[in-house]
Amino acid sequence: MATATNSVSIDRSMVERIVRQVALEHLGRDSKGKAPELTVQTSSRHMHVCREDMDVLFGPGTELTFDRPLFQEGNFAAKETVTIVGPRSRIISNLRILGPMRKQSQVELAFTDAIMLGFSDLPIRLSGNIAGTPGAVIIGPKGVVELKEGVIRAAIHVHMNPTEAAYFGVKHGDMMKLRVGGPSGVTFNQVHVRVDPTSRLNVHMDTDEANACGLHLTKDVELFK
Ligand SMILES: [Zn+2]
Repeated sequence: MATATNSVSIDRSMVERIVRQVALEHLGRDSKGKAPELTVQTSSRHMHVCREDMDVLFGPGTELTFDRPLFQEGNFAAKETVTIVGPRSRIISNLRILGPMRKQSQVELAFTDAIMLGFSDLPIRLSGNIAGTPGAVIIGPKGVVELKEGVIRAAIHVHMNPTEAAYFGVKHGDMMKLRVGGPSGVTFNQVHVRVDPTSRLNVHMDTDEANACGLHLTKDVELFK
């Protein structure tokens, strides 16, 4: 008798889950009417700075100067640049800073940049997840910061809002695939899903990834589970 009762309650919870899923999918479709428009963008190497490092690099109390907006609301390329010194004293100058300021400084490089600087095996990380990553010396116009950690290759990822996530049937932290067509087409199998209410649907890849798949040669892109 107990078994029968359990099986009824399991069925009901399954049904509720399915109904919720279907409702969410409709929510995603209805609000947009059709598949949300996908943009895929290349992130060139760049740095995010914290308040403390900004003070050292550019002077106490200085703010980032707006240069141009980025696709994601509130994010911008700053006029400020720094020089990064790698482990074998090789440097890249004119490393662009992206705003706004963050809690922790972080440098995002393509693998080619990393090798050039002497990082032989730079870890692939999601932005903000920098524990145990290599550091570097950063030179600004007013001072020098030695980052203990924070140099990464940014993992390819897709930003989306909850409605778009419902449309694709994914949640924050899931993996999706991105197919890029065209003459040197590639399918990326490890695209991290990042859901935030303020986000717009947008894949970010680095310059190595963009060059490998010939992103500039095609508009044929498709995101799927
Ligand atoms: Zn991004």
